Amino acid sequence: MVNRDDVCKACEGTGMLADDEEWQYTCTVCGGDGHLSPGENPTPDKYINVDENNRILD
Ligand SMILES: [Zn+2]
Repeated sequence: MVNRDDVCKACEGTGMLADDEEWQYTCTVCGGDGHLSPGENPTPDKYINVDENNRILD
């Protein structure tokens, strides 16, 4: 069962992120497990930072 609220929105539950050159790296938002536990902080700021990092890497 997957609680949609627990799925990491940055990596969509894969635990991995990839930039436009298909470099893959562990999702920094969820720590690579693909979901956010209540102890973690899925803050909008952090999500936005990851997005910006992707663009910078590009
Ligand atoms: Zn993630």
